[in-house]
Amino acid sequence: MPQELLLQVAPEIAANETLLHDYLSRQLKISVNEIQYVTIVKRSIDARQKAVKINLKLMVYLKGEPFLEQKIELPDYKNVENAQEVIVVGAGPAGLFAALQLIELGLKPIVIERGKDVRGRRRDLKAINRDHIVNEDSNYCFGEGGAGTYSDGKLYTRSKKRGDVNRILELLVAFGATPDILVDAHPHIGTNKLPQIIQDIREKIIECGGQVLFETRVTDIIIKNNEVQGVTTQNGAVISANKLILATGHSARDIFELLDKKKVLIEAKPFALGVRAEHPQSLIDSIQYSCDYRGEHLPPAPYSIVKQVNGRGMYSFCMCPGGVIAPCATSPGEVVTNGWSPSKRDQHTANSGIVVELKLEDFKPFAKFGALAGMEFQKSIEQKSWQLAGQTQKVPAQRLVDFTQSKASSDIPKTSYVPGTTSVELGQIFPGFLTQIMRQGFSEFGKSMKGYATNEAILHAPESRTSSPVRIPRDNYTLEHLQIKGLYPCGEGAGYAGGIISAAIDGEKCAQKIAEVLKTM
Ligand code: FAD
Repeated sequence: MPQELLLQVAPEIAANETLLHDYLSRQLKISVNEIQYVTIVKRSIDARQKAVKINLKLMVYLKGEPFLEQKIELPDYKNVENAQEVIVVGAGPAGLFAALQLIELGLKPIVIERGKDVRGRRRDLKAINRDHIVNEDSNYCFGEGGAGTYSDGKLYTRSKKRGDVNRILELLVAFGATPDILVDAHPHIGTNKLPQIIQDIREKIIECGGQVLFETRVTDIIIKNNEVQGVTTQNGAVISANKLILATGHSARDIFELLDKKKVLIEAKPFALGVRAEHPQSLIDSIQYSCDYRGEHLPPAPYSIVKQVNGRGMYSFCMCPGGVIAPCATSPGEVVTNGWSPSKRDQHTANSGIVVELKLEDFKPFAKFGALAGMEFQKSIEQKSWQLAGQTQKVPAQRLVDFTQSKASSDIPKTSYVPGTTSVELGQIFPGFLTQIMRQGFSEFGKSMKGYATNEAILHAPESRTSSPVRIPRDNYTLEHLQIKGLYPCGEGAGYAGGIISAAIDGEKCAQKIAEVLKTM
């Protein structure tokens, strides 16, 4: 029987198989030649003490012990070319994993995506970064793989159901992600690796007889007698089916407007909003690892911080170690930030959304928009940022300490945000209560993370697409919309997920419900 071991070792030992085997032979008091194989089951970093350690859960197989390498394989996907059709709107993680699950359950997905495939999308990302041109259908949020494609690809979630999370992680590995994501406590994939995985998922869907339509924007949902009949696309084509998974993400404002206009029930939903802070990665390393130089065996340090200020949570969101701040607007006339990292996280800067939780009452000035009040609040801040930074994709920016002292920065150094920055006193952008919370909050952050509140840190505004400003309500059990039969609001845009993994899990859940219903018909 293999031996299970829980160890705490120095980073250089965890990073080197020979050193690890030597260490184990000393611990187990056996010759190193007796060790046949070691598998890492879990790996995490313990940075609480001065000398950072790596926690490892290992299985050690000695010579002669039976050892079977565990192979992660794709499920047995069926050919569904002639099976019952289900429309899936949106090819983000929710839509793609819904499509895979439909196939596994013998149904044919028709995936409809407004954006381009992952490769075609790249040209539009270049255009927004270099030429300040925002394509409303193809950008950092829209296109194959959804908002998660050109991201850090962090794969952690608050979901309590480990089984569901592992299933998604294993599927990602089967589609080409590194098996490290199965063992790391905070797994991530990286922008350079995600597109190929997404492309392989799409190719599998098509190989199994599913359909994937790019550059096809849904402009109407056809509903008769409170039942879905199909959708209309931007060129007037009608695609018919009476089951529809609506997984259009948190930035599909036209879909929220369409539902509101059609009097399909939607609700305003609180979300969080703030800025994206960028620090030198070496500074974050020195704070988190209590060192001057992190060395070659520790990854660029992440951070996670939360404070209560005036009764509201202010917290780090979607932190990207060794990453880049991206222009994530989905329409001309607005500025939006978020962040991405390559798989090695080897850029010199660390960025993170720093956001404050909003309440429904904050949207009162936009009450005339009803369920869209939060979305209009969000839009107004993005548009003001665009105005103040010079009506391009340049972003309003301010040094952190200057912000806490309400003083516009006399200069802004070059940051990772490629379209560029304009020095703006960020207090002009946000409502007074929000500015006040952020000013106080950053000072509090500086007390917990010594060195964080520095003028070397540059704030970029706004970080506004943290989660959906709208909920599309559904029945907790059937997952169908509360009024419309056959409509399955799904993923982050509907308000039922936050992040890649939870969106993928929700996509699978909606597909499973549809299969259940169809089986009993
Ligand atoms: P989305 O991914 O938003 O997908 C919705 C899809 O629907 C889009 O492709 C869109 O084009 C399509 N669509 C919209 N309207 C229509 C229409 N009318 N017709 C047809 N198609 C339509 N999360 C993490 O967990 N880890 C991270 O590291 C991370 N980093 C991020 C970095 C960036 C830059 C961004 C923008 C987001 C990041 N996120 C991250 C968030 C994550 O991407 C989302 O939570 C996740 O993608 C939500 O999945 P979804 O499928 O619900 O929606």
